[in-house]
Amino acid sequence: MTATFARPKVGVSACVMGQKVRYDGGHKRSHFVTDKLAEVVEFKSLCPEVGMGMPVPRPTIHVRELNGEYRLTDTRDGRLDHTDKMQSFFDRQRPVLDTLDGFVLAAKSPSCGMERIKVYNESGELMHRKGEGVFVHLLRQHYPHLPLEEDGRLNDAGLREAFVTRVFAYRDFKQNVLASKKMAELVNFQSRYKLLLMAYSPAACRQLGRVVASASEHWQSAIDQYLTLFMATLSKPTTRKKHTNALMHLQGYFKQQLSAQDKQALSEQIDKYRRGYVPLMAPMALLQHHLRHHPDDYVSKQVYLDPYPEQLGIRNLMQ
Ligand code: SF4
Repeated sequence: MTATFARPKVGVSACVMGQKVRYDGGHKRSHFVTDKLAEVVEFKSLCPEVGMGMPVPRPTIHVRELNGEYRLTDTRDGRLDHTDKMQSFFDRQRPVLDTLDGFVLAAKSPSCGMERIKVYNESGELMHRKGEGVFVHLLRQHYPHLPLEEDGRLNDAGLREAFVTRVFAYRDFKQNVLASKKMAELVNFQSRYKLLLMAYSPAACRQLGRVVASASEHWQSAIDQYLTLFMATLSKPTTRKKHTNALMHLQGYFKQQLSAQDKQALSEQIDKYRRGYVPLMAPMALLQHHLRHHPDDYVSKQVYLDPYPEQLGIRNLMQ
């Protein structure tokens, strides 16, 4: 069985899409983004620096800390401050940004960089490398749950899986829980994500269950609390050990139906995955095969079986 997915809307730094909008007239095309991710999401590409009126090519800019505030200024002349123009660009983009389910950002940029951005003082001397881009700062402020990831980090299989999982889950949550505002949808969401959450953090899965249990009395605060913890749980790449635990849990649902031989074969596949001999897809395909022959409503609705479109091939990489 293959799940069907609505196409999430994902923002992307235009240079990552291959557009020649960088300060030097170049681009930073990511092949995973343009060749793979583009097949399953709807991209909204934008370049904040061009959007706020800068030309291509253009003088370099950087982040300065002035009076305790991060400002986007010209590299050579700190008096040339572009921060307000960035704020205006961001405000104009709000109708589009409101619809997004994720954002892929270009690393190392004073506008789009998510982490380790150089921050300079008033005199233009380097203070530290722990900053973030000014556009990203605004994104985080206004959309605290929006999944963000940088182009380079998406080359890491674990980070790639965690990001794509978050994007599809966020879309699902907005479409089903936030849109309906129904307690039953929140309960159903937690039930559908139970095994996926267990594969990331069994402790967080239990904690989320408690948040759901209290939600009928404090809906809005429970929703905020739930989404914050849910997205934080999925933001850290999981491990083979945790996936193995979730697979064994899933295996338990078939213990009455499978022959001794089938049980043995399934245990062997899970163990081969645990040892790193086969990718996650191998035991998962076997479990899906058994589910087709022994349907189970609770197992069938588990997002863990199909958290994102198969064609991304991510589970073939998950060693
Ligand atoms: S990193 Fe951001 S601001 Fe810089 S060129 Fe790319 S899209 Fe434009």
